[in-house]
Amino acid sequence: MPTYEYVCTECTEKTEVQASIAEKVKGLKLTCPKCGSKKMAQVFSGFSVLGSSRGGTGGPICGPQGGPGCC
Ligand SMILES: [Zn+2]
Repeated sequence: MPTYEYVCTECTEKTEVQASIAEKVKGLKLTCPKCGSKKMAQVFSGFSVLGSSRGGTGGPICGPQGGPGCC
């Protein structure tokens, strides 16, 4: 069963959650073990998903290093 890491956006407490893919898709209802907040955000390795509406992978892959003018 995969493990997901979540961080509380209120107190930044991190917690690991084990959940099946099906449970994950339905949406996990998590509560911070420290402060009880339900504002838990998943931590992704690389942490590049949040606020990545600009730039990033918005087009065809044109080079892993992504320097300017790489296309
Ligand atoms: Zn918390």
